[in-house]
Amino acid sequence: MSEDTKLGSIPLLSSQGEIKHFDHGVHMLQSWANICIIETDEGMVLFDVGFEFNGPGIVEEVRAITDKPVRYIIYGHGHADHAFGARAVIKDAEERGHPPPIIVAHKNVPRRFDRYQEMFPYHEHINRIQFGIPEEMPAFVRNYIYPDLTYQEAMSFRLGNTTFELRHSKGETDDATWMWIPERKTVCVSDLWVWSCPNIGNPFKVQRYEVEWAQGPEAVAASSPELLLPGHGPALSGADEIRDACHTVARALRFLNDQVVAMLNRGKWQEEILQGFEWPEKFAKSPYLAPIYGHPYFIVQAILRRYHGWFDGNASHLFPSPSREIAGEVLSLVGDPEKVLNRARTLAKDDQTQLALHIVDFVIDSGAEPRTEALDLKAQLLGNLAEQEKSLIARNIFLGGVRQIKKILGEQGD
Ligand SMILES: [Zn+2]
Repeated sequence: MSEDTKLGSIPLLSSQGEIKHFDHGVHMLQSWANICIIETDEGMVLFDVGFEFNGPGIVEEVRAITDKPVRYIIYGHGHADHAFGARAVIKDAEERGHPPPIIVAHKNVPRRFDRYQEMFPYHEHINRIQFGIPEEMPAFVRNYIYPDLTYQEAMSFRLGNTTFELRHSKGETDDATWMWIPERKTVCVSDLWVWSCPNIGNPFKVQRYEVEWAQGPEAVAASSPELLLPGHGPALSGADEIRDACHTVARALRFLNDQVVAMLNRGKWQEEILQGFEWPEKFAKSPYLAPIYGHPYFIVQAILRRYHGWFDGNASHLFPSPSREIAGEVLSLVGDPEKVLNRARTLAKDDQTQLALHIVDFVIDSGAEPRTEALDLKAQLLGNLAEQEKSLIARNIFLGGVRQIKKILGEQGD
């Protein structure tokens, strides 16, 4: 992710982090994902613990602050970059003769962990593409530490002089928790609020929930926090900015939801909705909704998937012929595949790279020659799209396409 975005100044697979200290014993280790460290007079509470490789860094930062035991670890949700760094903290407690920390999470976190293990090869495959992880590195989590304690809607506990209120909110995941600390006017929100357009409709992932996601930040704002520690990126401070940040995200999600629902009610099909939805300037320009990870187009896809099946309105597409046969028919009409490739090059020169890709695909899908030339052109076009693309997910999909082509060409001995 480029340096100019607030979300990703620290790379995904780096164990580096930067500790930020706030008032009243609140600290945040800002790595790819954030780890919140809250001090009380009877011990520490950690909210989110990063990847497994973040664990030693967390222990180091906690021990630079205090010798007190870590009493609780809260998983903000069960994603790989938030709920896997507890092992080093548990080991540190053992070595110091402290009681083991109690790990708390929403009741759907264990179910997620079960699913991850059941579908490990699949998750490794899709996450390798989504995050552009090289083949020689592991691309998904292997070691699970299940929560000791789970809850359904809300739960609170006190530690020393401080109250911790855990609340469930369904958004990016069905297992999300945000934590309100009233005495410190601080809220830890995990991925319910990050410096990006919400990651709903991720091209690889299960259904996510736009209206429920909107309700989360609205509830957060209603608590009037003065410090918000997000799942990624720098903290937000000041009641006004936090309210604005939360409501902007919620309003955008409700706006997209209302639009898609209205268009479905008017009998519109997917293509028309995806090509025709509005994303007003005030959202497009908001730093709280930058399309650097999630993307409004992905959100519309998710809303469609939520309310509608997969039929796209064209009866020809119900039981389609294989792409190879369709492309073969078109190419035999055109006669010369070079003509098709030349047209794609012209379109690309006219800044119509996406359209050019569809045209090149006729040659590739049909299996016609010059195959290598067609694949080379496609790789070049995908590379151009990747260069202009702000969304990390979309960019990695384009680059994944380039890698795939290079692999094919390599296998052919080119
Ligand atoms: Zn995250």
